[in-house]
Amino acid sequence: MAALNVNKAEFIKSAASPNQFIRSSTPSVVFAGKSNVGKSSVINRMLNRKNFARVGASPGKTIHVNYFLIDGRVYFVDLPGYGYAKVSQAERDRWGKLMEQFFASEGLIDLGVMIVDARHKPTADDVTMAEWFKNSGCRLVVVANKLDKLKKSEIEPNMALIRQTLDLPEEVLLIPFSAEKGQGRDALMAEIMKELS
Ligand code: GDP
Repeated sequence: MAALNVNKAEFIKSAASPNQFIRSSTPSVVFAGKSNVGKSSVINRMLNRKNFARVGASPGKTIHVNYFLIDGRVYFVDLPGYGYAKVSQAERDRWGKLMEQFFASEGLIDLGVMIVDARHKPTADDVTMAEWFKNSGCRLVVVANKLDKLKKSEIEPNMALIRQTLDLPEEVLLIPFSAEKGQGRDALMAEIMKELS
């Protein structure tokens, strides 16, 4: 199958309510992760860009589901980040409601890409997000980002802790990743390509 032309990437829309979610036969790869985990950086790395999905946007400010169409063949769906301490209760509630609506809708996710920090035990919010993905029945991969910040000897134990904390079934791939250096990009691209025809 032809490689994905990541140079052909366009922003489609920001959805703030369920009637704006995209329902399409084009496959959707849905990216989720807590604020500052490097979700934008991972998306940018996949697209070989610096500034396509925003990096370092003030966390918690954008409670939208952002849709990008890549090569006319696959949607990259950027879920709003979570777990940022400084957001108001009202914003937290808005996030919770939108995510509930997103995960309650059938057929919005073909591949879930859950991004966690390779350095740390996943947070309670990460565990909840992983549960939502698992319950949705979609295929899931977990990306452990910021690998470049780990010592070699820390990689294996940290990956084991992430797998155990998120209670990942054996078939869920856990990809050590560095958005900064590029490790893991090929492995994640291979998983995305499995969704394309
Ligand atoms: P988001 O809030 O999840 O979208 O996170 P961003 O993509 O804005 O990244 C948050 C911060 O982490 C930025 O300062 C990035 O430069 C940094 N960052 C993201 N990925 C990596 C990585 O793989 N390694 C390192 N060292 N820093 C990273």
